[in-house]
Amino acid sequence: MTEDEALFLYEQAPVNELMALADKSRQQHVPGNGVSWQIDRNVNITNVCISGCLFCNFHCKIHETGKAFTTSIDDYCRKIDELFALGGDQLLLQGGLHPHYGLDFYTVLFRELKQRYPELKLHALGPPEVAHIARLEKMSYKEVLLTLREAGLDSLPGAGAEILIDRVRKQLSPGKPDSQAWLDVMREAHQLGFTTSATMVFGHIETKRERIQHLIKLRDLQREKPAGTTGFLSFICWPMQTKDTQLPPVPSVSPVEYVKTIAISRLVLDNIPNIQASWLTVGRETAQVCLHAGANDLGSIMIEEHVVSSAGAHHRMGAEEMQQTIREAGFEPWLRDQQYNSRQYAVNHN
Ligand code: SF4
Repeated sequence: MTEDEALFLYEQAPVNELMALADKSRQQHVPGNGVSWQIDRNVNITNVCISGCLFCNFHCKIHETGKAFTTSIDDYCRKIDELFALGGDQLLLQGGLHPHYGLDFYTVLFRELKQRYPELKLHALGPPEVAHIARLEKMSYKEVLLTLREAGLDSLPGAGAEILIDRVRKQLSPGKPDSQAWLDVMREAHQLGFTTSATMVFGHIETKRERIQHLIKLRDLQREKPAGTTGFLSFICWPMQTKDTQLPPVPSVSPVEYVKTIAISRLVLDNIPNIQASWLTVGRETAQVCLHAGANDLGSIMIEEHVVSSAGAHHRMGAEEMQQTIREAGFEPWLRDQQYNSRQYAVNHN
């Protein structure tokens, strides 16, 4: 599908027809009636960040006493114990671009966590963080990624993409590595055989054409992955949360627009198998509709999340409600790991 074709469908197609087309495409990629979900925990390594993204209420400067934090090993251990007790197996680790945390900081942290919890999966560090470490260390992305993998990194989240168009990026996140850096880190990760995910945060200052261009950049990058590797295993998009941020108020993304965006993402991203609906930001009812519009995954119950929550996303869902939500939408829930392998759902009440 070309950029113009995708834009035409996104803007002109009746929503029910777009949903039907996307649902057909979902059945080709992921046949059947199953909808996957996950139990993981989002832990922020630090909130100190030099990027200063206008939409972020979470970050602070290094000298902001009383606000700046770095998660301690004791806190990680408590959070991992809770995660395992709830049946989860993965930490989603991300944080700010700390001016002094280079490669050693992260390798020591990852080794320590893997030594204490060998079965733990680390889905960690979005491309801006990897690019930031490479810049601090004057190393290539490949060297940084290989060293992180050796220390315990399992897979990379697609964090920090927002919209991969520098006109937009320069206004929203002037201190963040640019779109090309995001794509280059992911390209290198795919070359090294890492599984990653892709994201899009929309509904701010971008145009609809720029959303489509963002999707096409992801699709083009996925075409470059080496044969036999996975590259982007999933895609998730969510509306920008702007409450109390430095961004001027923007009209909120309506449920219909979100559903259409999921549908067009499924149709454009014909080489990324899994499309996830963001119940955390749009709520369970809209997420349920997305399951009929190309999405085949509802993501994690999210035991802990701070960045979008601090900007207005307040939906919450436990494991039972997650499964109920999927069933109510007419699908059969199955618990997955980060690689979309099936897991047994078992809660440890001890
Ligand atoms: S979104 Fe991430 S990179 Fe941007 S200011 Fe917040 S913590 Fe820093």
